[in-house]
Amino acid sequence: MTAQIMEELVSLCKRRGFLFQSNDIYGGIKGIYDYGPMGVEFKNNLKQAWWKSMVYERDDTEGLDASILSSPVVLKHSGHEDTFTDPLVDCRACKSRWRADQLLVNNKCPNCKSEDLTEPRPFNLMFKTAIGPVDDGSSFAYLRPETCQQIFTNFKNILDSTSRTVPFGIAQIGKAFRNEITPRNFIFRVREFEQMELEFFVKPGTDDQWHEYWINKRIEWWVNQGIKKENLKKIEVEKNELAHYSKRTVDINYAFPHGEEELEGVANRTDFDLGSHTKNQNDFKITSDVMKNSSSTTKLGVQDLEEKKWYIPYVIEPSAGVDRGVLALLNEAYREENVDKDNKRILLSLKPHLSPIKAAVIPLKKNNEELVNLSKEIKSNLQKLGLGRVVLENSGNIGKNYRRHDEIGTPICLTVDFETLEDKSVTVRDRDTMKQERVSIENLSEYYKKYFN
Ligand code: ATP
Repeated sequence: MTAQIMEELVSLCKRRGFLFQSNDIYGGIKGIYDYGPMGVEFKNNLKQAWWKSMVYERDDTEGLDASILSSPVVLKHSGHEDTFTDPLVDCRACKSRWRADQLLVNNKCPNCKSEDLTEPRPFNLMFKTAIGPVDDGSSFAYLRPETCQQIFTNFKNILDSTSRTVPFGIAQIGKAFRNEITPRNFIFRVREFEQMELEFFVKPGTDDQWHEYWINKRIEWWVNQGIKKENLKKIEVEKNELAHYSKRTVDINYAFPHGEEELEGVANRTDFDLGSHTKNQNDFKITSDVMKNSSSTTKLGVQDLEEKKWYIPYVIEPSAGVDRGVLALLNEAYREENVDKDNKRILLSLKPHLSPIKAAVIPLKKNNEELVNLSKEIKSNLQKLGLGRVVLENSGNIGKNYRRHDEIGTPICLTVDFETLEDKSVTVRDRDTMKQERVSIENLSEYYKKYFN
């Protein structure tokens, strides 16, 4: 895959309504994107697949949807106020700003090639906003830089309101914000994005085993979403590059069009976070170097019933980026094919459960009352099966509709023609093989359910 594919993807995403530069009509904001009609369906399907595998299909997890606005106290104790930084370098000549570790080649400004650069200095990536009507700087919150801190602060609430015992996990999907110095590569590195995070709480001593389990489980999940195994790599994060909370992190890297980079990180966060948010830490034997003088009123520990003592669980965290997942899956699914010697087609060969539109119902002749009414009825019946969005295409141009639905990855198109009125059957065209078959309307629901399950 190449940068050319990235350009093709960016163009397809705009042309077909997957992604738009945010605030486009005013020139856009760098590193922020909006998901259009196709993008929102695709992204929701991806999140739903994650939720299904992390919550519905397991017996040891719960879900959460916590606030984005985060108390500075929480982010003080989590270590983010002090350490969530990137090294920032200014070019004195052209006044541009760069992330030192990634963009400087031979210590020259990538923009104007000047060597007149400042020393790298830490730049905190968190966005701040005022709370309340008076913005005097005394009352503010951060937009969360990762979704998980509210999982930790809700740990006791969830324990008390369910009957969970360790090992168990809390799953959450939601927005996170980072004031990236140099957002780039389309939706790969952006300032506003979504994460799918599971915090899985385990007994210390069993953490290494659970860590391996989650690394493998997550790779398996991405493969089930349609990523070729050979395009995923496990990368052991070097000790000196580990985040402040981590004992060991394994990144799951993907071969993006711009190069191989992180799609998901699986970290062993030890008892760092629950320990940091715990009142009176001396009551516990906490192994990591946690923040002292916590002002939390809660002990985020559990009781070991056999040994009759309290302990703080360790946490294994698989943390995936939704937007990076969207980019990776679009890249995997993108194909250009020769239909015959004169015609090409572009298609997104997405797994059906991820496709933004599950089926398009197309009356052969635009505005023909009989065909359109029957198409509407078929559309409505398939829609009621609840497997995702079904659309009616009343434009009368079959070829154009096939091309559009190939490009947005619709697995099947159903054409309602004049014969349908006689034989009560429709033509079903398969996106990938382009094969067509007649299916009777009576059997359509069964056919459709089978196709998507
Ligand atoms: P990177 O090293 O690429 O900056 P990270 O190690 O800081 O990423 P984590 O803090 O582990 O990332 O966040 C978990 C996941 O959130 C990442 O694997 C990625 O998929 C996603 N993510 C993090 N930062 C961004 C961003 N700026 N834009 C889009 N997704 C992001």
